[in-house]
Amino acid sequence: MVLVYSNDKKITIELLNKASEIAKQLKKNTTVIIIGKTDDSLAKEYISYGADQVFIIETDQQKFKAEEYAGFLENAIKETGSETILIGSNKNGKELASRLAGKLKAGCIIDAINIYVKNKKITAERVVYSGNAIAIEQFNSKPEILTVPSKVFNPLTKNDSRTGVIIKKKFDVEKYASKITKIQEMQTDSVNVEDAEIIVSCGRGFKNKDDIKLVQELADVLKGKTVGCSRPIAADLKWLSEDHWIGLSGHKVKPKLYIAAGISGQIQHIAGMRDSGIIVAINKDPEALIFKSADYGIVGDLYEIIPKLTAAVKEKIG
Ligand SMILES: Cc1cc2nc3c(=O)[nH]c(=O)nc-3n(C[C@H](O)[C@H](O)[C@H](O)COP(=O)(O)OP(=O)(O)OC[C@H]3O[C@@H](n4cnc5c(N)ncnc54)[C@H](O)[C@@H]3O)c2cc1C
Repeated sequence: MVLVYSNDKKITIELLNKASEIAKQLKKNTTVIIIGKTDDSLAKEYISYGADQVFIIETDQQKFKAEEYAGFLENAIKETGSETILIGSNKNGKELASRLAGKLKAGCIIDAINIYVKNKKITAERVVYSGNAIAIEQFNSKPEILTVPSKVFNPLTKNDSRTGVIIKKKFDVEKYASKITKIQEMQTDSVNVEDAEIIVSCGRGFKNKDDIKLVQELADVLKGKTVGCSRPIAADLKWLSEDHWIGLSGHKVKPKLYIAAGISGQIQHIAGMRDSGIIVAINKDPEALIFKSADYGIVGDLYEIIPKLTAAVKEKIG
C-alpha cells in the first residue's frame, strides 16, 4: 500500500496523484487516512481523486496532537501493510512524520520536491544548501516516510465514477501527559499567496513602506489582488506580514503570473516561485539574477515602470 495523510484536504488530493502513480508502478494500491469523526462524503471525494481505499480512524481526539496522531498512523500502517507513507508537509505533518519515523524506526525524507521509482526503490529529491543543490535520496529500509509541501504535485482530475473501499476503525493509543490548553489563531492579513493566480511581489528595491501601495495597485488592476514579497520585506523590515513572504523559508507559490519588482532573485527567493507560469521581473540592474528566471524582463526604475504598467493594464482590461 501507498498511504497518504494530511490534515489539509488540498494537499491530500495533490499527494494522491503521486501516490497513485507510484502504486501503479509498484503494483500496489493507495490508502488515504482520515482521523476524526466524519461521514463518508470526504472519503468518497478522496476516492474520486484516486484513492483505492479510505481508512477512517474514528476518535474523539479532534484537535491535532502529534503524539497521539502518530500512534493512530502507526496502527493504520501496520493494519494496511503500508510501506510508502506520504504526509503533507505543513507544520503538523512535519512533526507527525518525524515522530512516526521514530516509532517505526523508519527513514524519513522531509520536503520532497519530486518522488519516483528508480531501480525498484522509492527515490526522492529535496532542496539542500539553501536552494543551491538538489539531494537525491533513496531508502534502505521500509516503511519509508516522506513529507511533501503543497503545490509540488497537481491533483488528478476528479472522477466521480471511481469506486473504492471505506473502512472505519478505532484504535486505542497511548495517552500522553501533555494536553492542548489553548489554540490561538495567528494574526494574519488573510492573504493566501499559495492559492493566488496572479501575484505582484516587492523586494528591497522599494524605499519606503508606503511605496508598497504601487504593487497593491498593480495587483488590483490585474484582478489578482495578491501581494507577495521577499524575505527582507516581511522578516527584517516587517512592512508586510509573513503571509506574503515567498521563498525557501516562506511560501511556495505557483501562480499563472508572477511579477517580481525590486527583487534581486537570490536562489532562496527563486525556490519559492520558480514554478510560476509566467515570470516578469522589474529591476534597475540589468545584471540582476532575477532576469535569469524571468520570461519577461523590464530593466528600469520600478517607481517609473509600475505606475505606467498599472495605467496600461487599466486601459487594456478596464
Ligand atoms: C537560509 C535562508 C533562507 C532564505 N529564505 C528566503 C526566502 O524564503 N525568501 C526570500 O525572498 N529570501 C530568502 N532569503 C534571503 C535571500 O538570500 C535574499 O537576501 C533576499 O531574497 C533578498 O531580497 P531582495 O531581493 O528583496 O533584496 P536585494 O537582494 O537587496 O535586492 C533588491 C533589488 O532591487 C533592485 N532595485 C533597487 N532599487 C530599484 C528600483 N528603484 N527599481 C528597480 N529595481 C531596484 C536592486 O537592483 C536589487 O536587485 C533566505 C536566506 C537564507 C540564508
